[in-house]
Amino acid sequence: MESKSKSKSKDEDGKVYLVGAGPGDLGLVTLRAKECIEQADVIVYDHLANPEMLGWARDNAEIIYAGKKAGEHSLSQQEINALLAKKAREGKQIVRLKGGDPFVFGRGAEEAKAIVDAGIEFEIVPGITSAIAGPAYAGIPVTHRSENSHVTFFTGHEDPAKTESAIDYAALAKLGGTQVMLMGVERLEAITSEMLKQGVREDLPVALVRWATTGRQETLTGTLRNIAERALDRGFEPPAVAVFGEVVALRESLNWCEKRPLSGKRIVVTRTRKQASALSSKLRALGADVLELPTIRIEPPSDLRAFAELVQDAHTYDWIAFTSATGVEAFFEIFFKLYDDAREIGGVRIATIGPATAQRVKDFHLHVDLQPDEFVAEAVVREFRKQGDVENLRILLVRAEKARDVLPKELSTLGAIVDEAFAYRTVPETRDTTGARRQLLEQGADLITFTSSSTVENFLALGLPWPKGMQIASIGPITSKTARDCGLKIDIEARRHDIDGLLEAVREFFAAKDVSEQRS
Ligand code: SAH
Repeated sequence: MESKSKSKSKDEDGKVYLVGAGPGDLGLVTLRAKECIEQADVIVYDHLANPEMLGWARDNAEIIYAGKKAGEHSLSQQEINALLAKKAREGKQIVRLKGGDPFVFGRGAEEAKAIVDAGIEFEIVPGITSAIAGPAYAGIPVTHRSENSHVTFFTGHEDPAKTESAIDYAALAKLGGTQVMLMGVERLEAITSEMLKQGVREDLPVALVRWATTGRQETLTGTLRNIAERALDRGFEPPAVAVFGEVVALRESLNWCEKRPLSGKRIVVTRTRKQASALSSKLRALGADVLELPTIRIEPPSDLRAFAELVQDAHTYDWIAFTSATGVEAFFEIFFKLYDDAREIGGVRIATIGPATAQRVKDFHLHVDLQPDEFVAEAVVREFRKQGDVENLRILLVRAEKARDVLPKELSTLGAIVDEAFAYRTVPETRDTTGARRQLLEQGADLITFTSSSTVENFLALGLPWPKGMQIASIGPITSKTARDCGLKIDIEARRHDIDGLLEAVREFFAAKDVSEQRS
């Protein structure tokens, strides 16, 4: 995508990027797609494009849902084409985000044609299609040297009874090999009957993979004879891909994805968008369906000048104490604006709470002199005491505005001289770019994770009805207490009060639950 710094003449047209969003898993998006999303002025996305990736968009990007989900109001194809042309004429960079690969069914080619006809520049960013990734995530390779030498993709959207049907089922039957059908799970009965009629053997293995590559993935297997009935019994709904062929049998040994420890569990992450990613990606790697619902956002402190002055004087203190990674970042952002030499920090010693905070300090190539084992403020006071006489020590405490005030108070009681540097402010996140709140309301969740008191308070402040059966995981006793004070019940509390500790506790919780469910 063109860089913003390049000067553009006023009447210059924009450009449309027809981008494949991949099959659903956020990790299956190309680097080019991410780059395009990050730079777009306008994003027009479909029902099948994972909305989480809208979190990569610029804050002021215009985001438009084009729908395409049955029964929901959405833009018609003509309206979409017109919209793309209109926005491009305004000189905008537009990302048209489509599920899977933009040129595999789903009308990508028609949109490209309309853009060309309108005389607008465009680019295609291919994506991983669900036709291949869907089977792969169900443990089905679309080819295998000893099973087949060709793969066919076809759409089940067509009515096979239609006389002018574009799909020649007789030819398909003769061709054999692996056949992958997109769309049309609703027509499975008619399609399988037609295949049987054309002489395909009735015990041919068939698999349906629904919401493939997402945390909601489900697979149903059967034979050409019984798959339609099974799908009906199970209420197996779209979107799904169907795989017909011998390769389906390989799933028995190759199924990997549905066996992951958090597979099928939907988990809500409430941290700020930027902080969420570490927790989210680890949960996803364990198979969870993660819903990022940021409840808070980091903003500069109300008095930035006061903060900057304290940063400037940091070298005059005996200690700097950081209580969060965000505080460390805010501190050094200002520090390196004021000074161009790291040595200006002087001989000050550094204390941190929590491993993430310490890591952030180490990222700046500075040594952490004091890091209490427990990641709560009380423990810091204890550690300072251990270090000997605290009396008259000058301590600069870098923290959020309105944080709990036990730390400065206790340190002052011990005789230290404490200055508080308010580095940032957490404010409620009012935007919902990815539609996560709507998704939570519509689809519920198994678990919500709280990583600080402010995530609890701000989640409750959203006033969303509590989804049925959604359990709670807390990072530690202080967060749990806040939650209990708000009338919530804690189901999981991390023993180690950091992200890995929380992850471990969540994992153990579901493992124990699975065992008890298997017993009953
Ligand atoms: N361009 C898309 C396909 C669009 S047509 C691609 O390359 O994947 C829409 C059909 O794609 C759906 O009806 C379904 O058959 C399939 N599909 C898309 N995403 C899917 C997913 N995550 N799981 C299962 N099927 C999916």
